[in-house]
Amino acid sequence: MYETIIERIKERLESRDLKAVIIPHISPDGDAAGSCSALWQVLDRVGIQAQLMTCDYIPDYLKWLKRIPDAISFQNRPKECKHWLHQADILFMLDHNTVAREGDLEPFVKEFKGEVIMIDHHPDPDDVTYRISDTSVSSTCELLYNVISRVWGKEVIDTDIANAIYTGISTDTGGLSHNSSHPETYRVIADLLALGLNKDYVHEQLYQRNTLSRLRLTGNCLLNKLTIDEHFPVATIPITFQELELYNYKDGDLEGLVNIPLSIEEVLVSIQITERKDKVKLSFRSKGNIPVNLWAKEFFNGGGHLNAAGGQMPLPLDDVVKKVRDTAEWFFKAIKN
Ligand code: 5GP
Ligand code: MN
Repeated sequence: MYETIIERIKERLESRDLKAVIIPHISPDGDAAGSCSALWQVLDRVGIQAQLMTCDYIPDYLKWLKRIPDAISFQNRPKECKHWLHQADILFMLDHNTVAREGDLEPFVKEFKGEVIMIDHHPDPDDVTYRISDTSVSSTCELLYNVISRVWGKEVIDTDIANAIYTGISTDTGGLSHNSSHPETYRVIADLLALGLNKDYVHEQLYQRNTLSRLRLTGNCLLNKLTIDEHFPVATIPITFQELELYNYKDGDLEGLVNIPLSIEEVLVSIQITERKDKVKLSFRSKGNIPVNLWAKEFFNGGGHLNAAGGQMPLPLDDVVKKVRDTAEWFFKAIKN
């Protein structure tokens, strides 16, 4: 499907003395960090000098991924980031479809003079030099596996790279529970296992690292915060900044929480509404073919996938909760048509 683009990328990356920059989306998740880790390690192996940079920070729970601790952030090292953007020939945009998802890096990336290679699985991708965008894959990591194996051959993949690729496949599918019905996903995993993937280690890193405070935060959300709308099949979990502090919140502590209400039969959409320092962040999840990305895009400055979307609002938490309630009718009417 991408034969021509892959051929062109391959040819371009064969040039000597290339410098590359790798950028994930704001608030990097397992797929973003996994794909960046895997690609950076591959570039190391094939002799392309590269630097991973983020507009914010990669959460601690993903720091075990190789090369991730060496990422630089625009927040504390803006000069270095700009310098790299200035001298790089190639910019890899991973796991996001638009520069608008690059936070404060956006204006500098827009001025980037080199070529951009996008590897992503979100709808409506920006127009870039080389675009590999496919909404039908489980994750950017799955797509990246195909790119790596076709550009450099899969022999370039070792255990650490396989672990990073598998991280994105696992986290973007909720541990292979959604978005993972294509046989191809399992062929990729089978290949990764043959190449040295340490699946048990990855699972342990991703899913077996609870802290007492994290479990208590989850418990409090489910016991005291989760409600189901009276009129629509929508569960919401509003979480205040104060609660996050009370339970000693760390990035990643809320990972997966929003999926839990979907296990209730009558709930078709689950929305976590979290108060941050400067904004309120929304996470949408849905069952079947309910396009929550539409709801996020229409009212909450967001977007994403059919079954997993997000957004944010510069409003007080209560107002955002109210807005969710008030727009539910619009949404369920809109998707009926
Ligand atoms: P999460 O709920 O895990 O933060 O995000 C779920 C998905 O929604 C992400 O994979 C991303 O595709 C999308 N998403 C989250 N936040 C935003 C946002 O603010 N804008 C857009 N366009 N997409 C978002
Ligand atoms: Mn992804």
